[in-house]
Amino acid sequence: MSHEETGVTPQDVDALFEKLRTLQEPKGYYFNKDTALAKGLIEQLIALRKSMGYAPCPCRLANGTREADNDIICPCVYREEDVREYGVCFCGLYASKEWNEGSIPHTTVPERRPPENILF
Ligand code: SF4
Repeated sequence: MSHEETGVTPQDVDALFEKLRTLQEPKGYYFNKDTALAKGLIEQLIALRKSMGYAPCPCRLANGTREADNDIICPCVYREEDVREYGVCFCGLYASKEWNEGSIPHTTVPERRPPENILF
């Protein structure tokens, strides 16, 4: 989606990118070194928050209520295990330093969300 379609400005994206970077890096979570990809996902998160009132994972189909999507509000509850096991989250937004440096293999991250949490 374009900036025009989402109503999200590049300044909005840059501001949240910096805010999250400052918060998450000390915890060991780095944005994907593909900054265009990371910023595209952040733009989607801002657009989702505007339309839904919360920001579910941009790579998953949300159930539509905060209660039903609690596990996938970004950063989702699966990020920790995914980054520990694969070096990157399901969506590819957050990564470990090693993954970004290419010192661990880049593989597809399987969906860890239990099927019973996916309502449709
Ligand atoms: S997979 Fe990544 S982008 Fe999606 S909710 Fe989890 S942390 Fe956020």
